[in-house]
Amino acid sequence: MNIHEYQAKELLKGYGVKIQEGIVADTPEEAVAAAKELNKSTGTEWYVVKAQIHAGGRGKGGGVKLAKSQDEVKEKASDIIGMQLVTPQTGPEGKKVNKVLICQDVYYPGANEPKEYYLGILLDRAAGCDVIMASTEGGMDIETVAEETPEKIIKERINPSVGLQAFQARKVAFALGLEGQAFKEMVKFIFALYKAYQGADASLFEINPVLKTSDDQILAVDAKVNIDDNALYRQKNLAEMRDITEEDPAEVEASESGLNYVKLDGNVGCMVNGAGLAMATMDIIKLSGGDPANFLDVGGSANAKTVEAGFRIILKDPKVKAILINIFGGIVRCDRVAQGVVEAYKNIGDIKVPIIVRLQGTNAEEGAKIIEESGLKVTSAIVLKDAAERVKEALA
Ligand code: GDP
Ligand code: MN
Repeated sequence: MNIHEYQAKELLKGYGVKIQEGIVADTPEEAVAAAKELNKSTGTEWYVVKAQIHAGGRGKGGGVKLAKSQDEVKEKASDIIGMQLVTPQTGPEGKKVNKVLICQDVYYPGANEPKEYYLGILLDRAAGCDVIMASTEGGMDIETVAEETPEKIIKERINPSVGLQAFQARKVAFALGLEGQAFKEMVKFIFALYKAYQGADASLFEINPVLKTSDDQILAVDAKVNIDDNALYRQKNLAEMRDITEEDPAEVEASESGLNYVKLDGNVGCMVNGAGLAMATMDIIKLSGGDPANFLDVGGSANAKTVEAGFRIILKDPKVKAILINIFGGIVRCDRVAQGVVEAYKNIGDIKVPIIVRLQGTNAEEGAKIIEESGLKVTSAIVLKDAAERVKEALA
């Protein structure tokens, strides 16, 4: 689960990570009030107005604006709130901005030039541990840095049984070329950040940029945080930060029905039990000349209710030209699934796209019989290759 920048910064602050201070606002009037409040607490006279959406690259899309007075805060907030913000990460349709974060301007000139760094923490699944990634190329798209100048990315793996060691934090700060007070601040920053990462059961922290201010403070100016969904049961405070307006409506509906659904771009909808079988089914769809419109794992208990919910979600996608249901009856019996399909079909009514049902496993024959005798426009197959053939015919 992703959270907004303002929520992520609140989380970091709670763990002692120094941040660029800010106050979230829903309206231009609230934005001005926030600026006044920041002026009182930090003394700042310049502000940054930042669109709050679950996507990066906001600066490039015009979602991050400097304001040199409270009047300008109002003006910039009015421009940004309600806009459809397009960034390199949102896709061409963009995302609607509902909130802005009013921040203190921390790039004030001074003894030293402010400098931007990149810091990330993520779970490296291949290595089986968390890894800290750091770079002097802050503010830039880290994927570009990784591609063009991979030597500029520092990686430090954290041994899960001993945790982050002091020498490792120092090593990173040193590799970033820091010295004196800024070096010490960076070591503290990295420690606090890792504590926050662990405490939040996060799977990704991306702080880009981390800023060294002209007076050598180290601050998180941006924060992208991803929390492991499987930990949300014990992260109640974070779970409440979920903003479903940022998520794909079909995916939200699916998760409410206990379905594992990911929307894709193709023309063949599929409904499968088990993630592995779902992946194999998507391959089969490709091989038969189609393109999967989604990934959908109905889980272990494929019954009439889940099948119906799955149907409804798939059918909302206008691109879908055929639906392939591929269920392996292990614990669940194929005849029950078949009954579920028939019931769901009748309940929804008026389904225009051809449906191919492939049932294999316990009571497969009985299942096929139920489908065939239902009188509905549903084609049954037992062998997956036949099912793929039927998909091909449906698309022709
Ligand atoms: P992103 O574009 O979604 O990654 O949003 P960021 O929060 O990283 O902001 C984009 C850029 O705005 C940063 O890389 C900074 O260069 C700039 N920015 C952010 N905060 C300030 C600030 O306080 N003062 C100034 N002058 N620029 C800022
Ligand atoms: Mn950023």
